[in-house]
Amino acid sequence: MKKGILLIHPPTAKACEAPGGPARLAGTLRRHGVAFRIWDANLEGQKRLMKMAAQSSADPQNPGTDAWTRRSARHLSANLSALRSGELYRNPDRYRRAVKDLSRLLATAARPFGVRLSLADYEDERLSPVRSADLLHSAATPEVNPFYPWFHARLPMLLAEFPVSHIGFSLNYLSQALTTFAMAGFLRRTFPGIRIVLGGGLVTSWMRRPGWKTPFEGLVDDLIAGPGEAPLLNLLGLDGDGRPDPPDIRAISPADYLSPGTILPYSASSGCWWRRCAFCPERAERNPYLPLPPEQVTTDLRILVRETKPALIHLLDNALSPSLLAALAADPPGAPWYGFTRILPCLADSKFCGKLRDSGCVMLKLGIESGDPGVLASLNKGIDVRTAAAALKSLKAAGISTYVYLLFGTPAETPAAAARTLAFTVEHAEEIGFLNLAIFNLPAYGPETREFASGEFYPGDLSLYRPFAHPQGWNRGEVRRFLEREFRRHPAVAAILRRDPPFFTSNHAPFFVPAS
Ligand code: SF4
Repeated sequence: MKKGILLIHPPTAKACEAPGGPARLAGTLRRHGVAFRIWDANLEGQKRLMKMAAQSSADPQNPGTDAWTRRSARHLSANLSALRSGELYRNPDRYRRAVKDLSRLLATAARPFGVRLSLADYEDERLSPVRSADLLHSAATPEVNPFYPWFHARLPMLLAEFPVSHIGFSLNYLSQALTTFAMAGFLRRTFPGIRIVLGGGLVTSWMRRPGWKTPFEGLVDDLIAGPGEAPLLNLLGLDGDGRPDPPDIRAISPADYLSPGTILPYSASSGCWWRRCAFCPERAERNPYLPLPPEQVTTDLRILVRETKPALIHLLDNALSPSLLAALAADPPGAPWYGFTRILPCLADSKFCGKLRDSGCVMLKLGIESGDPGVLASLNKGIDVRTAAAALKSLKAAGISTYVYLLFGTPAETPAAAARTLAFTVEHAEEIGFLNLAIFNLPAYGPETREFASGEFYPGDLSLYRPFAHPQGWNRGEVRRFLEREFRRHPAVAAILRRDPPFFTSNHAPFFVPAS
């Protein structure tokens, strides 16, 4: 068979934009003349399940359906269209109702399979995505997966239209793992001659573990860690020239994502330029920092914007570098954009923030983590509370919204330090657009892990975390209680949390930022 590849973005992930990894691979595969197709099985699969749930709720033979599901079924196509129009985002209550209704249909379709499914997550009551035995079980019994009734018919159709020698899965989130393996098991059984390749962020994390040995022999032919362009070309018998390519989102079908216009995903780098924060997986996995030159990024973006006319650019970097921010401010891409960055001195400069806003920056995601100087120092974040406060003020004044990430229960945090984070948040509540609150997990590997690990592993040989006993007894239970009873309940914090778009969170947040 002539060499060719079908790249699959498997369920379940947020279906609001084209997947960044496959889009980038598409650019490289096209330039090298490889026969390829990219299939967004996530979006298609979710829509198919919603439709199946809607049809079965309308069936008079199915009297068990509740009023909420029947309402969701009636409004399915109206809700899908509304999510693709800007109008809905001007009415947060209507938006919330629409996404909850869509998610209700997914939950209804998956319930008979013992799976809790939503627009953003997949949780199996029996199988765990961090246990290789469970992933192999999912591969051996694909028919117990809620997406099986759809993919077991759809995959043979796709392969009849476009026969390939290789099938690659882009596996980035735990919520995709069990369905990826169900699809891989079905393919292995039905098309034994096709080679199965796994890559993506989650696979990279597995393979960077010390002493990694694949438990998937016989099912998965090739596993790829890190950027997939060169290894994928090699598997297809080609040599890459190492030149990075811009993403090709038009190669991905279907294009009707659940967003009001195209979102253009773009990575200006892999790894992280800072790479010093304690407990950071990027550091533990020793992922190298590989940036594109800022001039190439701004040129790529201008061309891509002209070609795809996006409603929004999503910069996927772990942390946008100061030089890239300066390049974007000097040479705007021509469409609104957002991305993750660190608290940087340039963000405390109101003139610079004004230029960023003029370049199209609508929102910055910021890992502030704590309002306590001692905690920040212990995490080696390289930021101080005063600069963070000044940055929040300057960004707000410039009309750039912020999605602030806070982390509780780190080894150096005490209840008093957590209270200081609450005080910081309240003091800057007017300047914070959105909030993400997380409880610390101890990574399974990394320079600091041995010092704090209180046991070998969480159940699951693929777990990325280890049990952790807080050195001062500020354990998960207490932290959770503090968050529920004090932090989230503070009126200033509660008002910020209410703005968070359910399920789509930061991916849809920029659409709620008022135009300045
Ligand atoms: S900025 Fe983010 S990605 Fe970079 S080292 Fe810190 S936590 Fe890791």
